Amino acid sequence: MSYLKLLKITWNNPWTLNPNVYVPRIDSIDYSKLKELGVKYLVFDKDNTLTAHLKNEFYDNKIQSCVNNEIKQLYDQNSQIFIVSNSIKSEQKQKEVQQNLGIELILTSQKKPHNFQEIINHIKQKNTNVSIKNHEIAFFGDRLFTDVLLANLNGAVSVYTDPFNNLNEHLGIWLMRKIEKQIFSKFQNSRSINLYYLNQNIKNFDQQVTKQNQQQQ
Ligand SMILES: [Mg+2]
Repeated sequence: MSYLKLLKITWNNPWTLNPNVYVPRIDSIDYSKLKELGVKYLVFDKDNTLTAHLKNEFYDNKIQSCVNNEIKQLYDQNSQIFIVSNSIKSEQKQKEVQQNLGIELILTSQKKPHNFQEIINHIKQKNTNVSIKNHEIAFFGDRLFTDVLLANLNGAVSVYTDPFNNLNEHLGIWLMRKIEKQIFSKFQNSRSINLYYLNQNIKNFDQQVTKQNQQQQ
């Protein structure tokens, strides 16, 4: 799918950019609740979601603890938790990230949001004899036009986060963030969460999976 075609799709179907869940950071999610609601596979973006831009270590102790002490207790490290990053193209870099973060990185030939088929093929390879449905996969990321769009176009759960910071990001990303911020503020003003994929009528899905302490802050 060309970028022009994608632009047309998002223009005609703005919901494709509307995340199912918004949280400031990935450690603001109640993962036990997410699992209870049917999410079986987690796919994280790397830059500004788990690490700082182009870095290979967790952004801070809280993110590290969330992954190691919470997520890995609930989900299988080898078959249910993955990273997909548009900034990683080489196997060398892939190995470095996997070693540092302790999460498998799926290397795809296409970039987000075009690489869903490659991602789901990989997850299926890791989970043979299990039927995997798109709505059982949650994508976490700080960008609407890559992470959220990838999930929404394929009926997966989209979890949108704030970036940690904008250090070292190039002008193109900076500009896209400005546009994404404008789009997201429109969604926040008329919040409507489409949860057809979960086959359940879950009201306030994003609030349900957000940690209580976060809501009180
Ligand atoms: Mg990112």
